[in-house]
Amino acid sequence: MAVQATQANMPVVLLKDGASQTKGREAQKNNIAASKIIAEIVRTSLGPRGMDKMLVDSLGDVTITNDGATILKEIDVQHPAAKMLVEISKSTDNEVGDGTTSVVVLAGALLEHAESLVLQDVHPTVIVDGYKKAGKKAKQHLKEIAEQVSADDKPTLLKIAKTSMQTKLVRKESDKLSDIVVQAVLAASVKDGENYTVDEDDIKVEKKTGGSISDSSIIQGIVLDKEIVHSGMPKKVTNSKIALINTALEIEKTEIDAKINISTPDQMKLFLDEENKMLKNMVDKIINVGATVIFCQKGIDDMSQHYLAKAGILAVRRIKESDLTKLAKASGARIVTNLDDLSEKDLGAADLVEERKVEEDRWVFVEGCKHPKSVTILLRAGSQRVVDEVERAVHDAIMVVKDVMELPSIVAGGGAPETYVATQIMSWSKTLEGREQLAAEKFAEALEAIPLALSENAGMDPIDTLATLRSQQLKGNKWTGIDVMKGQVSDLKTSNIVEPLAVKYQIISAATEAACMILRIDDVIATVKSAGPPSGGEGGMPPGMGGMPPGMGGMPPGMGGMPDMGGMM
Ligand code: ADP
Ligand code: MG
Repeated sequence: MAVQATQANMPVVLLKDGASQTKGREAQKNNIAASKIIAEIVRTSLGPRGMDKMLVDSLGDVTITNDGATILKEIDVQHPAAKMLVEISKSTDNEVGDGTTSVVVLAGALLEHAESLVLQDVHPTVIVDGYKKAGKKAKQHLKEIAEQVSADDKPTLLKIAKTSMQTKLVRKESDKLSDIVVQAVLAASVKDGENYTVDEDDIKVEKKTGGSISDSSIIQGIVLDKEIVHSGMPKKVTNSKIALINTALEIEKTEIDAKINISTPDQMKLFLDEENKMLKNMVDKIINVGATVIFCQKGIDDMSQHYLAKAGILAVRRIKESDLTKLAKASGARIVTNLDDLSEKDLGAADLVEERKVEEDRWVFVEGCKHPKSVTILLRAGSQRVVDEVERAVHDAIMVVKDVMELPSIVAGGGAPETYVATQIMSWSKTLEGREQLAAEKFAEALEAIPLALSENAGMDPIDTLATLRSQQLKGNKWTGIDVMKGQVSDLKTSNIVEPLAVKYQIISAATEAACMILRIDDVIATVKSAGPPSGGEGGMPPGMGGMPPGMGGMPPGMGGMPDMGGMM
């Protein structure tokens, strides 16, 4: 069913058979509806009283989470507009680490409010212009209420980490975990003049089921989930000299098919001796430079293991490349590919390398490194699903602490900044001429989706709560917000519910951008793969548009192209 246009009785065929197109109002309605569904999915998981989602993938693996980015990553969204919201959630996760639910809730609300204007025949470009101006204004107002803090102030960082963890399953353990997180980020931070930067990759997070969340700990160094290769090797080496090798300590198989004829037992012995000699040579090179510990990215042959053990060297094999890089950074060693190149100055150092028992496994701990910026957080919890969720919570917390160290400004949580900015935008909108004013008003209303969702999820009356909050914010009480745990509007500074300004910036920018982009679309053309079946049918759909029947006009509005969504809720 190709789309055709008729010009002077001549049909002009533009699209291939099987391609589909929705235009104008229909396309907008469809995109907005899909975005609203996505926002609705994550809305109920916003805040400390938000609900968790249980996601089951096609293999039957279960994930339990209330992290926006994770929820959306796990559900296989097909609709192109809905996919954009999944994208902003992901990019928010990468940029600032937290606020992945809020950004989607806000984008959904912006689109929902835009829809009412579209229905009143306000042109989408006018809405987009109004939204963009309002978005800029919103960030200025956020800056107004933000409080400057000192970047390495531990008590502030603890509050930030704790607020982020309040919304996760780890809430009860948030004292201990936030302490671990803040220690880790402070250790990994680098000061340059007045500014700090943090590379979150310097913080290694390992998880192990068994024990409870409160058994989690921080190790000043690197933990490898590998054991020492040979039982004859020392289990502990102090003042170690570390060699990092990314080549195998094995005899390489030749690429050419060669045949060796051996006719007598003596020849056999000679052959094996020769092989052993080669391995011994390799190991000798390591012994000669004075290494006492080697970490190898590839395999280590039994014979090499034997020689290493005899020389009292501790060896670990099949180390992940990323871990080898971390080890290099931490110990000051250089990763060596060719053993002939290995020299004493390639060796790194650590005070202690030791194999310890972690539940049923043996792991190697490298502590007291030359570069003390490398730390490992070892997370524990009773089951795999819990420890996975703990890891996500710790990731968010690491990121918010990093955010504050890099941009040392904080605002209240609990819907306070959103409500403040909404009141300000609302009064500013009156200064705008024409229909942009309507768009700015809608922007303000959309911001209130955050306090509304927070109070609704906490079982509070959303309308009453918002009214109280608005009046407090208008009075200039910028720290007054919804204390979800107490179920009332109160001063959040005393209850230490604070968030990084960077997260709020990101939420507003990303949500505004996505909403504007979706609003500007007035034509959705779904082409078919050139090699696909001739026409129509599910098989002809390109992957991004799967499930969307050709001729999208026939789709029930609201569910466009997302057949699985209902089942997820
Ligand atoms: P996101 O993925 O957007 O971070 P969360 O589920 O983590 O979503 O919820 C974050 C929201 O919860 C923020 O607006 C934050 O201010 C708010 N929040 C966190 N702790 C509290 C609390 N104790 N009381 C009220 N609001 C809180
Ligand atoms: Mg959060």
